[in-house]
Amino acid sequence: MSQQDGTPTRPTGLYVSPVGQRRGVFQEACAGLFARLRVADSASQASLLLEREPADVLVLDLERFELGLDLESLGRLVAARAGAPVFVLCPFANARWLPALMGFGPLDYAIGPLDAAQTRAVLAARLAEGFTRPAQATPLEAELRGLLAVRSAAQRALEEADDSVRFAERMCEALSVWPGVVHAALFHLRDGDLHLEAEQGATRLQLAPLLLRGDKLLHSPLRHAFPGLLAAASGEFALLDALGKAGEPELADSLRGHGVEMALGLPIPAQGPGAPRGSLCLLFERARAFSQAELGALGDLAQLAAFGLRMAEMTRENEELLGRVTHLATTDALTHVANRRHGETLLEQEIRRARRYRLPLALIGFDIDRFSNINDTYGHPVGDLVLRTVADTAKALLRSSDVLVRSGGEEFLVIAPHTSAIDGLKMAEKLRAAIEQAEVPGCDHVTVSLGVAQLGETESGDSLAVRVNAALARAKRAGRNCVELAMQ
Ligand code: GH3
Ligand code: MG
Ligand code: MG
Repeated sequence: MSQQDGTPTRPTGLYVSPVGQRRGVFQEACAGLFARLRVADSASQASLLLEREPADVLVLDLERFELGLDLESLGRLVAARAGAPVFVLCPFANARWLPALMGFGPLDYAIGPLDAAQTRAVLAARLAEGFTRPAQATPLEAELRGLLAVRSAAQRALEEADDSVRFAERMCEALSVWPGVVHAALFHLRDGDLHLEAEQGATRLQLAPLLLRGDKLLHSPLRHAFPGLLAAASGEFALLDALGKAGEPELADSLRGHGVEMALGLPIPAQGPGAPRGSLCLLFERARAFSQAELGALGDLAQLAAFGLRMAEMTRENEELLGRVTHLATTDALTHVANRRHGETLLEQEIRRARRYRLPLALIGFDIDRFSNINDTYGHPVGDLVLRTVADTAKALLRSSDVLVRSGGEEFLVIAPHTSAIDGLKMAEKLRAAIEQAEVPGCDHVTVSLGVAQLGETESGDSLAVRVNAALARAKRAGRNCVELAMQ
């Protein structure tokens, strides 16, 4: 192995990994790059070694470190490196380490998995460059201007946050402004699975065919490999700076075919603990390193997406709630037909409509005959069943424009638009015959008496109801189970 792989004057190095086998491999592959390479199995051992003798370069291999457990101690190491560059090897499915560690101080990174030769090549290149930011990184000013544009476009997307799909579309438009992004997508976890809610791209790339489906994506065979799916499924920030690293060559080839070299998936956090709400997925035309400002902005955008999706969810919940409350307030709980109050409103509406279009309007009232006897003989639960049967039988006969109303205990009204007195009489007779025929389990057949009236030219709803009731009372007096037409 050549002695001239690294920089002309080789630095001293300290490599930290909790995995013995990785320490062995690294030593074998990379020791030649350093004048002297020491290894440590933990942040605390590394600190001790550095106290004894500083190192020119610190290499942190994050594979098998745990963010929740080890961030503080590794962070202290980054903060205390006394001017030495820190080079981080970060697994692609756990890129959340990067913004977290950058909070302790600047660092350079490479995304894993990398084999021994790749690690050596990357490290040799970085040592030769002296750990400056990679050449492809955007200049700071352009970068900040770009971030500002994305952020304000994303904030404007919140204006559409009463609908999750429209919000997702606007969010993707905003994200596709990000420097170097060729495609942006939002995956949304709803109704128990993951859906591709929106996507936007400069290329013709469409994710659904690539991922072999557009919904039920938690079941996609690529959920461990495609960063957008991985982030939504695991809650981790996934960063693939070389597509081959995910171990799905076909997927990598298709993405490359669409001019994509790097992919990232960012979980959209849920309100509390538990699965994320979805993910943002960005595809870049070139692999490049992210600065702390960019990683911070990505985190902010994921928060913003979470906020927008929550707002959309709340709007949908409110609409559903309003629908349910309205239903409860207007519907009779036993028979599920309009209740008396709603019936009065509907009658007023139909009267206004009939007047405006000069159309006839009939009102039919009916009342179950000797219903007290049914309750007395069979009990109230059977009485309730009779009421439901009568309502169902009547509803089945009516046109969709007719309205059935439970106006009292065992009394009903039918508001029949476009219906004259004669047609109303025919309709009432049909109702009478059908109810007489209706089977009620555990009970005798029941009959109804009916009154029918046609709305007079200047008549009020109250007066119409009075005339219908008078006709109904006459039907009762005439022996029940019959129809009477109201007097004018
Ligand atoms: P008529 O032929 O003259 O109409 O005799 P009727 O017995 O039907 O008349 P009445 O108005 O005296 O009795 C109505 C009965 O309806 C009294 C009441 O107990 C019963 N009722 C009212 N609402 C309900 C209900 O929701 N469920 C049950 N099971 N019975 C009800
Ligand atoms: Mg009755
Ligand atoms: Mg009655």
